[in-house]
Amino acid sequence: MTAPSVDAFGRVGGRLAVGGVPVDRLADRVGSTPFFAYDRELVSTRVAAVRTALPEGIHLSYAVKANPMPALLAHMSGLVDGLDVASSGELRHALDTPFGPDRISFAGPGKTEAELAQAVAAGVMVELESATELRRVREIGERAGLRPVVALRVNPDFAVRGSGMRLGGGPQQFGVDAERVPSVLAELGDLDFRGFHVFAGSQNLSAESLAEAQRRTVELVRGLSDHVPGPLRYLNLGGGFGIPYAARDTPLDLDAVGGNLATLMEDGIRPHHPDARVVVELGRYLVGEAGIYVTRVVDRKESRGTTFLVVDGGLHHQLAASGNFGQAIRRNYPIAVADRIEEPRDETVDVVGCLCTPLDLLGKGVELPHAGPGDLVCVFQAGAYGLTASPTAFLGHPAPVEVLV
Ligand SMILES: *Cc1c(COP(=O)(O)O)cnc(C)c1O
Repeated sequence: MTAPSVDAFGRVGGRLAVGGVPVDRLADRVGSTPFFAYDRELVSTRVAAVRTALPEGIHLSYAVKANPMPALLAHMSGLVDGLDVASSGELRHALDTPFGPDRISFAGPGKTEAELAQAVAAGVMVELESATELRRVREIGERAGLRPVVALRVNPDFAVRGSGMRLGGGPQQFGVDAERVPSVLAELGDLDFRGFHVFAGSQNLSAESLAEAQRRTVELVRGLSDHVPGPLRYLNLGGGFGIPYAARDTPLDLDAVGGNLATLMEDGIRPHHPDARVVVELGRYLVGEAGIYVTRVVDRKESRGTTFLVVDGGLHHQLAASGNFGQAIRRNYPIAVADRIEEPRDETVDVVGCLCTPLDLLGKGVELPHAGPGDLVCVFQAGAYGLTASPTAFLGHPAPVEVLV
């Protein structure tokens, strides 16, 4: 059985294709392996599916850090309503898109004085993560003679069940603790305060826990909005929609998420915050399944009963697939041999990278067609937190090319 993510890509002449181009031909076009290939159409289709599922009036923002490739950002900018950035580098790329600064937000802990000054000069919304950051932004605004646009990121008084990565609830480096928000709001001064942002967890595959998180977020914000001068103009509900990585993962029920949000909009949000721009902010869900990491088999060897396919890539480009990106238990990402996509998967092999560490494991006990040197082994679910979330300098191999097809 192949994973749904594998079947989402096309096939041409018995070979896996990205954007209609067979991967072996794409490898020739790129001129080197390994490389990342992102399928433009799959991104568009995914964004369209999200838009169809979400109720009217919800703005969809793309979290750039999931995949900041400039060509992808350019494509994305025709599809979503805004961008969320987390560094001055991402800010620069976001400002190169057709989005105006009113459609760009800047979140993340530890924004430096320089980054905050850039954000204020650009006129983007700064999502304040602490009282210190608030004071800094005020000073920067006063010095520059500008009125900074801000929102407050809140660390909620609840945690989201089922998140692969928890970013809210309990003690956190993210946002201001909910109970401290009123005192922080008292220091807003002349800042152009728009509203709140709650992002409590990433990689969640449960529509119910996402719905519960959104419901509790709205409840929390309703209480906090009593302390806000004027009506709420911005409410960022976060996102955290997950994608299936391992074979046992069940894809998120997007329609259920959308249905819950529709109810919440009608009953919880619109009656109380009629003027708020309501935002759902997604990274992984929009791009994760649209990308593959393509490597070439360099060696095939047997060692005491185990067959190893040694490929020219590894964890230095695709750390998450090796299980070393915060996962408690390592599980295989979907893997296929691009040039043998329709051949039976009749042997069990370990796919390892070219780095001198046993951690460099891309697939353990994977069922694949018989493959050897020259064949192209692809790791799926590589469109988000792939290249830029990996230690590319480790062992000093050249950086891989990225293409959007
Ligand atoms: C990283 C991040 C996201 C995107 O998270 P995904 O799980 O990739 O969707 C959204 N909002 C903020 C503030 C983030 O830091």
